[in-house]
Amino acid sequence: MKYQSLRGMKGILPEETPLWQIIEKTCDKNFQRFNYHEIRTPVLEMSDLFTRAVGGNTDIVSKEMYSFVDRGNRKVTLRPEATAAVVRACLQHNLISKDKLTKLFYFGPMFRYERPQAGRYRQFHQVGIETFGSASPAVDAETILLAVKIFRDLGLSDLEVDINSVGCNKCRPNFTQNLKHYLKGSIVKMCEDCHKRYQHNTMRVLDCKKPKCQHIIEEAPSTVDFLCDECRVDFESLLYILKNLGINFKVNKRLVRGLDYYTKTTYEIVSNVLGAQNAVCGGGRYDKLVSDLGGPEVPAVGFAIGLERLVEILKTTKALSSKPQAITLYFAPLGDKAKISAIEYLHKARQAGISADMDYFGKKLKAQLKNADRLGALYALILGDDELSRNTVILRDMISSSQTELSFEEALKKIK
Ligand code: AMP
Repeated sequence: MKYQSLRGMKGILPEETPLWQIIEKTCDKNFQRFNYHEIRTPVLEMSDLFTRAVGGNTDIVSKEMYSFVDRGNRKVTLRPEATAAVVRACLQHNLISKDKLTKLFYFGPMFRYERPQAGRYRQFHQVGIETFGSASPAVDAETILLAVKIFRDLGLSDLEVDINSVGCNKCRPNFTQNLKHYLKGSIVKMCEDCHKRYQHNTMRVLDCKKPKCQHIIEEAPSTVDFLCDECRVDFESLLYILKNLGINFKVNKRLVRGLDYYTKTTYEIVSNVLGAQNAVCGGGRYDKLVSDLGGPEVPAVGFAIGLERLVEILKTTKALSSKPQAITLYFAPLGDKAKISAIEYLHKARQAGISADMDYFGKKLKAQLKNADRLGALYALILGDDELSRNTVILRDMISSSQTELSFEEALKKIK
């Protein structure tokens, strides 16, 4: 094969798209119920936006961005995630303020130059939400409830919700100092990434999955033990609300997430059918991001669901079956004259709102009916010279195989 898709960039083929469409419809329905509105941002943004928002020392910015200099000499990047771009759009178009709730959702491709493996691609798709304007833990709870509701509606009720609080600008420095102190003696035994994290963003050491770092991380101090009064009260309120809503969750003290902008609540929804890359949804609060990007102090919280991973779970658990879209009617013309009439009838059927197609190859009747069956057609309309001369068609019920001769108009009525 001369041309292949790029490594880590898989297309979504027709056999899988029905599943994607069900997911999109389920999300849309829930977004509407929860009063979220869609925003679409460009896939290309100024590189600085992500460096500033996601953090220059994160894996995403330091190793994974698709960045290049465009013909106007601007440093641009294919978005690795959507939150920064949504905040940029909100500031540019004045969509958010402190005293109103702005609730947005998005669908779309993201790009990260990661090492491809199962569940990890270089182009992948996320659906996500961002809620601006409230610092209330009730809003954090609403976002978690929304994600859980989407999964439940898709037939997935046994996913695990992991929750943590990573504190705020007031309490995090104290935690970081303690963590640094704890790691001081053992950092030499840890991986190279942890060395860098230790220097630049110590908390992220807790996120390391390498076996040689695990036993050191296990005994490390936890963010929740260092929360200031405000963060602690908010975290306890969130857990209380979630319990009341009947959402099963687990406090995971090691959950710090890979992006710098998180404050207070962080959460992940994980599935045990996914293997190493087990997170299907990641989210949390980011109360400082809007002001960091030059806007007012507007608190915010959101999540992103990884669609490739969600599709994988649905396929593995068979929670949904991916049936290709079927047509209602298939025209089987026999001969050139009949073909011309069939084209006309086909157009009329479609105008009448019936999904329909026809044989363009001049195949034998048996082959045409086989094709009708393959396409899932409920009816076939057989058109031969005899029928043409009598101004009729033969309507074949593809399930019972019974056939009736009638006028085209009568056939349409019957089908409808
Ligand atoms: P993040 O934007 O890193 O918080 O990720 C949110 C979700 O996007 C994750 O829980 C995954 O489901 C999905 N995701 C992140 N990176 C990738 C990737 N490289 N390939 C496929 N899915 C991904």
